[in-house]
Amino acid sequence: MAKKEDEDETVEEKQKEEEKVEPIDTDYEYKDIKDLPGVGAATASKIRNAGYMDIISLATANPLELAEICEVGEPTARKIVAEAREASKMNFMSGLEFEDKRKSVQRISTGSQAFDILLGGGVETQAITECYGEYGSGKSQLAFQLAVNVQLPKEKGGLEGHAIWIDTEGTFRPARIEQLAVAKNVDPKEVLQNIRIGRAYSSDHQALLVDKIPELINKDPKIKLIIVDSMMALFRAEYVGRGTLADRQQKVNVVLHTLQRLADRFNIAVYITNQVMARPDVMFGDPTVAVGGHIIGHVATYRIYLRKGKKGSRVAKLVDSPSLPEGEAVFEITANGITDAEEEKKK
Ligand code: ATP
Ligand code: MG
Repeated sequence: MAKKEDEDETVEEKQKEEEKVEPIDTDYEYKDIKDLPGVGAATASKIRNAGYMDIISLATANPLELAEICEVGEPTARKIVAEAREASKMNFMSGLEFEDKRKSVQRISTGSQAFDILLGGGVETQAITECYGEYGSGKSQLAFQLAVNVQLPKEKGGLEGHAIWIDTEGTFRPARIEQLAVAKNVDPKEVLQNIRIGRAYSSDHQALLVDKIPELINKDPKIKLIIVDSMMALFRAEYVGRGTLADRQQKVNVVLHTLQRLADRFNIAVYITNQVMARPDVMFGDPTVAVGGHIIGHVATYRIYLRKGKKGSRVAKLVDSPSLPEGEAVFEITANGITDAEEEKKK
């Protein structure tokens, strides 16, 4: 009898072993601030309240500023920053190492060949791709399409990966995902199953959801795409007219850098959407600019401006990219998803 129990236990243990997800080593990025020598729980919470959410942001902080915001003496602040620098192993990488890392970059097809070519082959991993444009320009549609396409096999433009979707506007539509999946001949329920949706109700909530992503990746290493639709809506609504733009930008900055680090570390593509506003000072040409301005511009690797084109088509303009020329691509949004525009196809 006792033997049987033993046997049962080993079977159970084996099962547990099999279910265990491969642990991801906790890199410096996810080490907690309070683990730094000389930083207690109280100071850690003050530091976090000041917007320094992780060790890297602390490592790059100005000690004088830190001393003031966190009400600690200047020598203590200096020591904290030095410890953070030490803990964050701010190392340089050789050009060759860098090249090696770049080699692991993968791309997700947008569904339109012309659009893919504009992006150098599709939406890249290890990068943040931002799409901005007016309402109805197709920002969310591209998000739906990428969430489906990332799951396709490589020869069909996918990465056989899963997606995380942070929805700040309540515009995620399962039915649209299913429609796009059917158009790609894949099981719509399975495709939906492989998308993790987090609905954010405030900008703090949005930041919190982003902080939860490493945990999700740990459970599901197949995650290859993170979508934030949209990046600025909640920040914009909450900080309107409060005269706290700097405060807002600081928080946006933290979220963006967290996303960028996730992209780098786990070879993930990040796609964020952004609204536009009219700039009253632009007299000629298109006066629309992305909300959040410089802050996103500095972090996003690729910026795409989307607008409506002729006969219901859409025009994507590559505004900012590290190595690709600026250019435009025309595509269409159909019931079956994003495709090349009819005229483009005839070419
Ligand atoms: P917002 O700023 O309001 O979020 P957006 O840029 O996210 O706008 P989308 O929701 O991506 O806009 O685009 C909506 C447009 O996509 C519709 O106006 C329509 O032209 C097109 N569209 C959406 N669903 C379909 C469909 N099933 N079939 C054809 N076109 C569609
Ligand atoms: Mg939208």
